[in-house]
Amino acid sequence: MLFHRQVMINRRQFLGAAAAASTASLLAQQNYEWGGPVLDIHLHMRPDGESNFAHITGSGVTRAVLLTRVADLGRAKDLAAKYPGRFVWFASADVSKPETAAQLTQAVKDGALAFGEIKNQVQCDGPEMKRMYALAADLNVPIQIHFGDVPQASGNAVFNGGFKRFDAMLKAYPKTKFIAHADTFWANVSADYAYDTAYPSGPIKPGGLSDKWLSDYPNLWADMSANSCNNALNRDPDFMAGFLARHQDKLMFGCDCPCSDGKGGGVTNPNPRLHGKCIARQTLAAAQKLSKPEVFRRIRWENGTKLLGLSNQA
Ligand SMILES: [Zn+2]
Ligand SMILES: [Zn+2]
Repeated sequence: MLFHRQVMINRRQFLGAAAAASTASLLAQQNYEWGGPVLDIHLHMRPDGESNFAHITGSGVTRAVLLTRVADLGRAKDLAAKYPGRFVWFASADVSKPETAAQLTQAVKDGALAFGEIKNQVQCDGPEMKRMYALAADLNVPIQIHFGDVPQASGNAVFNGGFKRFDAMLKAYPKTKFIAHADTFWANVSADYAYDTAYPSGPIKPGGLSDKWLSDYPNLWADMSANSCNNALNRDPDFMAGFLARHQDKLMFGCDCPCSDGKGGGVTNPNPRLHGKCIARQTLAAAQKLSKPEVFRRIRWENGTKLLGLSNQA
């Protein structure tokens, strides 16, 4: 028995050493443009997965979460297998369909690390989403939500509407790990958001709901992807430096970038802030500029790897 146990321990030590060796080889491949490893928690699975790989290599991202519809999960897994250590995935489906709960449960059993991105034309406190919050808690995976109360040209609808009432969900589902994303969340960093545009400008008024809820609810995290967060970072950098410091354990970098190469290729966004630019690069640069190195390290890597149960090693 004792001998057997010793063998087991040695085997475990051996496996640990093997994992460390593969980590070292991955480390050697990265030149760490951003001062250390980067986890992108918001990269949509593209029709051509090679474009996902081009995006992470071009933008200096170590590992990315592929946001994947259930029908495409096989492709996400294949891509993750082809590039070891570079990809993990979340799963999404239409929450208004009855089969979605079973599909997402199976997706988690097959390796999806969270539900996301969940973006449907429902209310954030409606029956469809309540069912998802309960299921995510049961499966012990986070749920990443697109909040869009104000329709925008690119997606002319309301998604997970009723953000003002979302705190009731944070209270009612304390075991659910919520990852908030998109326009309405980032616009509500300011207390004076008037719900008149998806991307408000000008100085931020302290006391916004998003800021307050990140402080008040331990089950709320924020996804810094897309024009929405980039807009917040740029409209009032002084305020946002404080925001990043205040919520340094809750914020996770993501890109939601459509560019082809991680360098802005093919981006036709008319906004000069983003035209011809990679959102990943723009938001990483802004967050780096506005935060101390240890805060930026948490934002670009540690908070996400911790929440998703990934190794903290690159
Ligand atoms: Zn979104
Ligand atoms: Zn990009």
